[in-house]
Amino acid sequence: MQPTECLLAKCPHCKHKKKIMQLMSGNTFGATLWSDSKQVAPMLPTPSPIQKCPNCGHFYELRKVKLKQGSDLWGETGWLQFDDAIDAYNELPRETPQEREQLTIIFAWAFNDIYRFDHTPTPEQFDTFKRVISECLQLPIFTAPDQTLIKAELYREIGMFDKCISILNDYNPGNEFELDIKNKIIEKAEANDTKVFKLIDGRNRF
Ligand SMILES: [Zn+2]
Repeated sequence: MQPTECLLAKCPHCKHKKKIMQLMSGNTFGATLWSDSKQVAPMLPTPSPIQKCPNCGHFYELRKVKLKQGSDLWGETGWLQFDDAIDAYNELPRETPQEREQLTIIFAWAFNDIYRFDHTPTPEQFDTFKRVISECLQLPIFTAPDQTLIKAELYREIGMFDKCISILNDYNPGNEFELDIKNKIIEKAEANDTKVFKLIDGRNRF
């Protein structure tokens, strides 16, 4: 992994310039893929599409703000913790399907990071997660066929196991890898298990 000069993202609220990490090169060696579609690649860290301004505390989409080349080799990836993800969900616009999907995924990843970092969410955090995700899933999002797995997975993660299984029973994956994921999600749903799980464990691939 070779970092290069950071990017400077300009906050649309207060104009503060946040240093965002940039890589010259990297690879997915040792990457772990999780059932919520998050890939954790130690040798290929990527910046979060949604950033929190360290100066004013507001949120913005990285692709929508002015970016300039910085000079520092150091920069942040800026992935949100769950409490910040709740605030981002409440603050940012969710007008287009892309905005809704992106926020839903960032929100779910931030919640699942609690498990990924070997912690247990509080009952309040789980309730908030369930409320927001079930609200999101009422909207027309994840409608493309290749997003069926993530949609079913989110239903499983909020404990709507029958809905998860019925979506997957109607889905015919196009390849063996997806078929394997489908079967694993069904297995977890049948066991009434809501926890995110590893599909590919980077540590076991060495
Ligand atoms: Zn700001």
